[in-house]
Amino acid sequence: MTVRLRPEIAAVPPYQQGRPAPQGGYKLSSNENPFPPLPAVVEAVQREAEHVNRYPRPGAPQLRAALAEELGVDAERVLIGDGSATLIQQLIHAVAGPGDEVVYAWRSFDAYPLFVRTGGATPVEVPVDAEHRHDLDAMAAAITERTRAVIVCSPNNPTGTIVTADELDAFIARVPADVLIMLDEAYIEFVREPTANGIELQRQHANLVVLRTFSKAHGLAGLRVGYAVGDPAVLRGADLCGVPLSQTSLASTAAIAALEHVGETFARIDVLADQRDALWQRLVDAGVPVPKPFGNFFWIPSRPGQEDAIHDILDANRIVAKVFTDGTRVSVGEPEADEHILAAAIAIQAIQ
Ligand code: PMP
Repeated sequence: MTVRLRPEIAAVPPYQQGRPAPQGGYKLSSNENPFPPLPAVVEAVQREAEHVNRYPRPGAPQLRAALAEELGVDAERVLIGDGSATLIQQLIHAVAGPGDEVVYAWRSFDAYPLFVRTGGATPVEVPVDAEHRHDLDAMAAAITERTRAVIVCSPNNPTGTIVTADELDAFIARVPADVLIMLDEAYIEFVREPTANGIELQRQHANLVVLRTFSKAHGLAGLRVGYAVGDPAVLRGADLCGVPLSQTSLASTAAIAALEHVGETFARIDVLADQRDALWQRLVDAGVPVPKPFGNFFWIPSRPGQEDAIHDILDANRIVAKVFTDGTRVSVGEPEADEHILAAAIAIQAIQ
């Protein structure tokens, strides 16, 4: 006899873990920020470390207030989580259970199907279009009376594309008011073109919640801190699906320090976005059909069945990237990694 898992849990495929970086190579598989944390952030964490015998304050009220001020919203419209992935899970579990459906683009962030399935609900995956963008028409058409949530990821992980403000407006108008719209903006700080303004939209639509994180642009991935912005009643439901006191005092202290020094962070983001755009141009010039990247990563499309060959190419070029059945996602990293990315992308394209 073995322990019986809930059937919906037993049926979930395992989450694909990243590989370690090769000796002397570059880890470009998790869309991390290659810059080390800001000195002010490290100092704040060191100061806070002296108090870790105490539990954190529930709900990280100081970070919540700081974010509310930064975003120009009431504090009750902000919920802090231990990473935005956790908040996405909490929101999905708050609205969708057995018999319910959650609609999202595919391919998109691979934790979405995990969270939908562990909550007992059914994923409805709507293929991205030929340009690797959300097909919002098809997503709207996929909504049924069983749909409890839709997820829009912009920039989309892993394809790097965005939805425009007009596209999102038209989509929202087609989503019933009792269906949650989750706008996952994990990479929004890297977008330099005008795009949908999630913070503005959540003011107008009580069913829209924006998700953001300190893991990417702010470079605090190891501390796990993210936030949701939206209707207080929806956030209360999500909060109930989380673990009390799970946001650590170190994480919220670091995030507050990061907000106080956001100018330095934006200067770094500019460097990374310049590097991204320059490398993208070289990739396109070399004939690699990478969609224009808006986050801190590139999408190199490929045919199914080539995963082993692509891993060999990445190993030979001393980079780790995330390989899927239909493409490879490579993060913008140290500038020295650019030549390795270019060589690997050209080699991948040569076997298409
Ligand atoms: N959303 C997207 C689209 C992501 O790519 C990620 C991280 N890979 C997350 C959310 C979660 O980030 P975190 O939990 O670190 O905030």
